[in-house]
Amino acid sequence: MKRSKVDLDPRDWETFRADSRRALDMMIDFLKGAREGPVWRQAPDEVRERFRRELPAKGRELEDVLGDFERYIKPYANGNTHPLFMGWAHGAGTPVGMVAEMLAAGLNSNCGGRNHIAIDVERQVVAWMAQAFGFPPEATGLFVTGTSIANFLSLIVAREHASGVKNVRRNGLAAIEGQLVAYASREAHNCVRQAMELAGLGARHLRLVPSNERRAMRIDALTRAVGEDRARGLHPFLVVGTAGSVDTGAIDDLDAIADIAKAEDLWFHVDGAFGALAVFSPTLRPLVRGLERADSIAFDFHKWLHVPYDAGFFIVRDPAVHRRAFAADAAYLTRAPRGLAAGETWPCDLGPDLSRGFRALKTWFTIEVFGAERLGACIEQTCRMASRLERHIEASENFAMRAPVTLNIVCFGVKDDHDGQLNREIVMELHERGEAAPSLTILDGVPAIRAAIINHRTGEDDIDAFMALLERAARRAKKEPHPLEVASLLPNGPILSSD
Ligand SMILES: *Cc1c(COP(=O)(O)O)cnc(C)c1O
Repeated sequence: MKRSKVDLDPRDWETFRADSRRALDMMIDFLKGAREGPVWRQAPDEVRERFRRELPAKGRELEDVLGDFERYIKPYANGNTHPLFMGWAHGAGTPVGMVAEMLAAGLNSNCGGRNHIAIDVERQVVAWMAQAFGFPPEATGLFVTGTSIANFLSLIVAREHASGVKNVRRNGLAAIEGQLVAYASREAHNCVRQAMELAGLGARHLRLVPSNERRAMRIDALTRAVGEDRARGLHPFLVVGTAGSVDTGAIDDLDAIADIAKAEDLWFHVDGAFGALAVFSPTLRPLVRGLERADSIAFDFHKWLHVPYDAGFFIVRDPAVHRRAFAADAAYLTRAPRGLAAGETWPCDLGPDLSRGFRALKTWFTIEVFGAERLGACIEQTCRMASRLERHIEASENFAMRAPVTLNIVCFGVKDDHDGQLNREIVMELHERGEAAPSLTILDGVPAIRAAIINHRTGEDDIDAFMALLERAARRAKKEPHPLEVASLLPNGPILSSD
């Protein structure tokens, strides 16, 4: 058979092969050199201009476009491959994940459902995670973009559970007796609030329970809040425990929350974006005791397991309620007894995505190639590095700790920097110099420097180098800031009028 005149395959496969090999070499060198060069550099205006062009009517040679990638994209990336990237809670990726991502793109499977092997690979990962978390083997799970969406979808499952025979999908929220109310610690990620907004329950009906000195949810306060809401005729339905809070890595007492959830008939969901994966380490595992009692867990493979972005995930203990929350009987999704449309539960029955990529493949490769022990060892190492940094901070004349270290996140700041302006200055300086990339957060109303050590590449020398860079930056910042510059750094910019 002759090929079509307009197909998008290479006109010359051997040229394509040569170009692709160069592309692969370029990226292997990029990852091999992950600790070289600036952590981050801002794309100059002339580079940004290149991405403000008109829609090209005619194509270019692949080689040419690859040249653009090398010159204008690769040097200005996020920086989270670098061992001194400690900002936010970004995973570092791996060369293995990169190759797996290429293989998945080659197959171009649509993992919404149907009878093909990618669905089995995804089920394999679900079963592994059920095992790792101590969930029953029939638990169902789904890859999504990230934990934000995973938390939202878990909340939808919890809402379905609360609605029961009232059929919230058909009848809407009004069918449910009493206003649904959820509980999470004050340290919970903002996406939990957003999930309440998106689900139509209202942010106002998320109770942010006070936390203790370890920044974990106060269990007495949770019990009291649930009791008060019941007394007011409201309908408590969900408690979200946090395993590794985004700001400080704090872990709620999941076992105690599970007890309350059981006594009060609440859905127990855990936001374990990175922290849930502490189960991969025998040393850290006790910190998340009670996780095995959750009704659902949301987490990311792209953070502490370094699967390339994106690979969010949630797992639900009860497959029936999970299915009930999402499965639909559209004509074009009809299952057949045989052939490509065979199979019972498809991923599209477990979430709102229909077209879905093969995120499971890069995750399967990561776990197969490294094994749970080595992945757990990397996780442990980041916690050791956090302790090392904490010791440096405590020994420093310039800096002081701002929150206790539970896992891998260290929050600190310049001593006596009451408005946090020096902290802001130091972080921006380190970024702009490309020396290191911690991030900023606000603790007790004051900006703090936050080092989330996630990267498997970050070792002792990196931590020591980071500390030296911090000390230098602190000395510079203390001398510098001009009053006008300080004003422009305030959260709301210079105050121009009083209102
Ligand atoms: C990162 C994080 C999230 C959000 O996850 P995304 O993958 O960025 O959507 C939610 N909760 C916690 C505790 C996190 O650390």
